[in-house]
Amino acid sequence: MTAVQKVLVIGAGAAGLTASALLADAGVQVDLVEAKPEVSALGSGITLQANALRVLREVGILDQCLVEGADSTQLRLRAPDPQATVLATMGAEGRGPTDLPNAIGMYRPALAGLLTERALELGVRFRFATTVAQLDQDDDGVDVTLDDGSVRRYDLVVAADGVRSATRAQLGIDLETRPLGMGIWRVFAPRPADVPTGELYYGGHCYIAGYTPTSADRLYAFLVEDAQDRSQVTPEEKVAIVRELASHYSGPWDEIRESITDPDAIHYTQFEEHLLPAPWNRGRVVVIGDAAHVCPPTFAQGAALALEDALVLTELLRAATTVDDELWDQFHARRLPRVQAVVEGSVTLARWQLEHVQGDLPGLMGGVQAVIAQPA
Ligand SMILES: Cc1cc2nc3c(=O)[nH]c(=O)nc-3n(C[C@H](O)[C@H](O)[C@H](O)COP(=O)(O)OP(=O)(O)OC[C@H]3O[C@@H](n4cnc5c(N)ncnc54)[C@H](O)[C@@H]3O)c2cc1C
Repeated sequence: MTAVQKVLVIGAGAAGLTASALLADAGVQVDLVEAKPEVSALGSGITLQANALRVLREVGILDQCLVEGADSTQLRLRAPDPQATVLATMGAEGRGPTDLPNAIGMYRPALAGLLTERALELGVRFRFATTVAQLDQDDDGVDVTLDDGSVRRYDLVVAADGVRSATRAQLGIDLETRPLGMGIWRVFAPRPADVPTGELYYGGHCYIAGYTPTSADRLYAFLVEDAQDRSQVTPEEKVAIVRELASHYSGPWDEIRESITDPDAIHYTQFEEHLLPAPWNRGRVVVIGDAAHVCPPTFAQGAALALEDALVLTELLRAATTVDDELWDQFHARRLPRVQAVVEGSVTLARWQLEHVQGDLPGLMGGVQAVIAQPA
């Protein structure tokens, strides 16, 4: 690759690992620094829709993801009534023209493991328990001072250090991350035999309740409530709260609820949103993934967008001879409108639910699906 030979990636989440692997595959020497002592991912599941799977195919790990994960091409909507009435089945027509599943569910640590293995195989050099202390750039490169005092020079720095990105702050970019007023309980649990695919229950006691298979015998279940401070909840209380919330739903929930006994398999997170307006770069440092955009997971798109950021950046760098304004203009033209549509759609759906507005859900879903069906 002529535009860049040496790149530093900051953060070993989905965005950073994907960017590292794709750049290394293009012949770039990639160093990856991660603040934590190892690659880590929440012990829960993730839904990867076709736009995420397209990127994972480019990374070279699609087949392994399909083996380790569980196909969720169909998405069933159920009513929060005692019969858990099936209201609709989306994706019943099967896979789209690319022959990729519409979505798969996967255990997050399994995805992180496959991305890490691929990055290592392609020669990415990992440095754990390491952060960036200072960035000094000129027209030709960036001098990066790490927290051990060592200084290295790179052609480009890709900051994929998450929602509260320290790099974004180091660049002097002010971005307000807003809470949406919703919190989600996620539980990693055994998969009952009568869960063939992902299922969602809108309304009832929670804003959303649902589950997505992550393998032949496991799933992750989720329940969305009004945001509240759950930081002092004891392990026993966690189990009791989730079982109580789940008791308002029937069908496969009856079996899932009974299996919820392990507090370590339960996680609570509040929904947040932000979208960094263009530019996402300052000279030769660019922020991607959650560092640039965060949305509630109402359309399960955050990681998919992060993966797309990495792919589009790599494609543009492969085609360019220099890192210049033209490259950044192309990057923003390909990323901003698409990311904005998905973030705004995700936020709109969350607001409708919070405010009990009967919006045009099929229209909103169709609009977001039409955007992500196009190549990034
Ligand atoms: C409840 C919930 C459910 C979701 N479900 C889905 C879903 O089903 N499908 C989907 O596509 N998306 C989903 N998302 C979104 C998805 O989880 C995120 O968008 C995605 O994980 C973002 O990846 P990232 O690499 O940008 O950031 P992160 O995963 O946050 O990774 C950032 C990395 O940078 C490291 N780091 C932080 N600071 C520094 C530093 N100073 N120096 C070095 N390293 C640093 C961190 O330790 C971390 O490893 C969900 C989000 C939430 C909150």
